[in-house]
Amino acid sequence: MTQIALDDSARADLSDRDRKPEDHTHEVFPDVPYRRLGIVNVVFFGRTGAQSGEWVLVDAGLPGTAGMIQSAASARFSANSRPSCIIMTHAHADHAGGLRSLADKWGVEVYAHDLELPYLNGTASYPPPDPKVGGGAMPALSVLFPRGPFNVAGCLRSLPADHSVPGMPGWEWIHTPGHTPGHISLWRASDRTLIAGDAFITTNQESVYSVMTQKAEMHGPPMYYTQNWEEAEASVHNLANLEPEYAVTGHGHAMKGEKLRRALHQLADSFRTVAVPRKGKYTAHPTSVQTGTAYVTGQRRNQ
Ligand SMILES: [Zn+2]
Ligand SMILES: [Zn+2]
Repeated sequence: MTQIALDDSARADLSDRDRKPEDHTHEVFPDVPYRRLGIVNVVFFGRTGAQSGEWVLVDAGLPGTAGMIQSAASARFSANSRPSCIIMTHAHADHAGGLRSLADKWGVEVYAHDLELPYLNGTASYPPPDPKVGGGAMPALSVLFPRGPFNVAGCLRSLPADHSVPGMPGWEWIHTPGHTPGHISLWRASDRTLIAGDAFITTNQESVYSVMTQKAEMHGPPMYYTQNWEEAEASVHNLANLEPEYAVTGHGHAMKGEKLRRALHQLADSFRTVAVPRKGKYTAHPTSVQTGTAYVTGQRRNQ
């Protein structure tokens, strides 16, 4: 079932800007390319040919995709090029899967929101996914995804308190909790470009068919892994009110323009009826940072 209609005519990446097909990236701007790795996008912020230390990786893909991320970086920038740092929108396994090996290999710092750090320093796992929401097969499969804790404590840093983004001048980070407690999005006001993570997405991530075909729609955060729907709704309102011209999301194609903005406002305004699962585990019992239910401790370490 479609949440909010949106079609390929709103795609931001259908242009002659995708000049370097060997790196398999789509360009939204020359310095904002992204690559889909199976079911998830990663962003390589930086201009073609950037040297080591002159670009930034946003999120780190599925487990087992570190080599693909490195090869895309080598093709786009320079051979064995290293970023200045890695920024994490959040630490779900499909976004943090390659993180440990990339951080080790590159020897770079990893930045995340304070409330996301426990999932990345070996102290906490995410609460279990909700396999019954959304009607598709992905929620049922989600119980198989690793959910941490991941441990990159040695290179892990808090995002700057002034909301600047290391290595990305002109950008700011925005706290967009709900999907996870420390979820962030990145915003460049000069051209109204948003890197939204999973605060909202542009395909139906519960449907294997949509995930395979990348069929476009405006969609709330992936249902099976969203811990607090009230916060998620507020975050979508905040992002809609930015009136983005371009949006790169964690899942689905990048979108642009009036169609993007209209669909995003529609999602915000009808969030409770279209995006929130009626009988979801976390609909009735949202997790909380204050009570500690957002963090599951005492489980496996060093994944
Ligand atoms: Zn996620
Ligand atoms: Zn995701």
